[in-house]
Amino acid sequence: MPPIPATESLQHAERLTSHRDHAMLDCGLVSSLTSMLGRGRRRVNVQLYRTDIDDELLHITQTASCNGVEQDHNEYLCEPETLPEAMQRAISLHVFHTEIQQEGRRSMHCCWFPVVADNRLLACIEIRCSRALSMRQLQMIHGMLGLYRNYLQLLNYSQHDSLTGLLNRKTFDDSLERILLNTPLLPPRDNEQRHPEDSVGNSWLAILDIDHFKRINDQYGHLFGDEVLIQVARLMRRLCRRTDKLFRFGGEEFVIVIQQIGENDVARLLERLRATVEQNPIPQVGQITLSIGYTQLHPDDQASVALGRADHALYHGKQHGRNQVNRYETLLAQGEVCTPLLHDDVTLF
Ligand code: GH3
Ligand code: MG
Ligand code: MG
Repeated sequence: MPPIPATESLQHAERLTSHRDHAMLDCGLVSSLTSMLGRGRRRVNVQLYRTDIDDELLHITQTASCNGVEQDHNEYLCEPETLPEAMQRAISLHVFHTEIQQEGRRSMHCCWFPVVADNRLLACIEIRCSRALSMRQLQMIHGMLGLYRNYLQLLNYSQHDSLTGLLNRKTFDDSLERILLNTPLLPPRDNEQRHPEDSVGNSWLAILDIDHFKRINDQYGHLFGDEVLIQVARLMRRLCRRTDKLFRFGGEEFVIVIQQIGENDVARLLERLRATVEQNPIPQVGQITLSIGYTQLHPDDQASVALGRADHALYHGKQHGRNQVNRYETLLAQGEVCTPLLHDDVTLF
């Protein structure tokens, strides 16, 4: 295979770093590698496995190509323990691994390239190729993966809140629409106790606000206030599903987007969050409570309008004793709130 011209490599690098979204970045890398490797009557199949923030789930982006022409593209989630053994070895040891595997009558050269930063696995690329990769190709792959790793870290950094590790508000603004359309789904964990007959179809947006948080700062100082925020975020992570999207929205306000769950289950989940916060005092600070307002999301919802509905329900709770969960639609049916006005920017309670 002739060497890949420097200008073409630069074009791939330029395209890769134009993305502001994980899925697009993954897709860009897989497409670039496939097109760079898959010429000259070569069959190549590239799969990218990216870990999520908790190093747990693997988001898989897969592209197959022949002679540089893309044939197939898939994206889905998987559990790490279901991966092939050779891949698991590369992932757990963080080392490059290669072997020849038989696919029918054809021998395929298989390589796994872990992408690691600060001793943490960010992703792993699997390349299956009908011919062995040359030294120049291996160098090119390492270069592309280094670029991907650095850019992925930047992207992660820009999308997460540095105190709690949850997604930040900017990410919410950028992505509610995509969240509604695209989140791949997994079966719940054993301990999730969601009721299958109730777990169909609906998506929800909840705003959680710590009650009287200013008093905590005033009484104990900002460092203790920060610790409370970290503990609440940790609890949200523990009680929510891996596919739920958790955001720190502002000071002591959090947003959760919960998908594929019925109205009874979402009510149970949010009540469990409220009760768990109430029943687990924070060391040296004591009991804290949460008020929660939530609303059902519609496919054509605008972020600001959905936030406005949930905020109405939250405000109602704040006016009626705090430490409670309220659903906007229920309050509306009871005449307790009115329809929020359409506006572009909602200032949360
Ligand atoms: P309410 O029950 O009505 O929600 O009252 P509140 O005191 O929780 O709400 P308020 O909006 O009056 O105060 C929120 C406080 O959160 C004020 C601000 O100083 C504090 N805050 C905002 N961001 C941070 C942060 O990152 N760390 C800490 N420790 N405090 C923060
Ligand atoms: Mg508050
Ligand atoms: Mg607030």
